[in-house]
Amino acid sequence: MTDPVFRDQPYEREIAARIAGRDERGIWLDRTVFYPRGGGQAGDAGWLAMGDGREVEIADTVKGEGDADILHVPTPGQEALVGELSAGTPVTARIDWDRRHRHMRFHTATHLLCAIVPHQTNGCSITSGYARLDFDMVEPLDREHLERELGRLVSEAHDVRTVWITDAELDAKPDLVRTMSVKPPRGVGRVRLLQIDGVDLQPCGGTHVANTREIGALKIVKIEKKSARTRRVVLEFATPA
Ligand SMILES: [Zn+2]
Repeated sequence: MTDPVFRDQPYEREIAARIAGRDERGIWLDRTVFYPRGGGQAGDAGWLAMGDGREVEIADTVKGEGDADILHVPTPGQEALVGELSAGTPVTARIDWDRRHRHMRFHTATHLLCAIVPHQTNGCSITSGYARLDFDMVEPLDREHLERELGRLVSEAHDVRTVWITDAELDAKPDLVRTMSVKPPRGVGRVRLLQIDGVDLQPCGGTHVANTREIGALKIVKIEKKSARTRRVVLEFATPA
């Protein structure tokens, strides 16, 4: 299995790793900083640099199965270069940091939105260009209110941290579970929670910024009645990169 370094060190942009295997789906490593698409967050893109400086460009990262649990998917047209990679080959795995940092900022922003809107979510998409969140609700949403509250939570500079909690601890704290905008899964022993101090606490496996201030100014570009029971909110950065 791949050591998912991004989980505890989301700010690591590159890491020395070794090829663990590859097949037609992609390449897997012994350890990686590439986040695989999941939980609504897009997979990372970047490069695997070989010892002689040549680089395999990675277009996407997805979840696989078994030992190939994190698949780095090369951009098409590099078959000869990829063919030189075999188990044990050392590489430097480097993500497209600008893109990933936007994912982290947007992802953290979706947690703020969850804290502002007191309804369950039933869909989420986080890309480098926008974040989209679907709420299970029938009431209308007020754009100005949401934008103002997002701006407040960003400027209040709340620290963001991950905490692990066991099933037993969750069972002992029903009040804590009641306050969560998303209920944690049971039966896996330990659950990773994302905590935004004083704002939000919910199970999440994605990558986030360390403080809400780092998200920067946001704007709501769309509030849409997606279905009778779904309201969709689309966020962008107020200042394009
Ligand atoms: Zn999250």
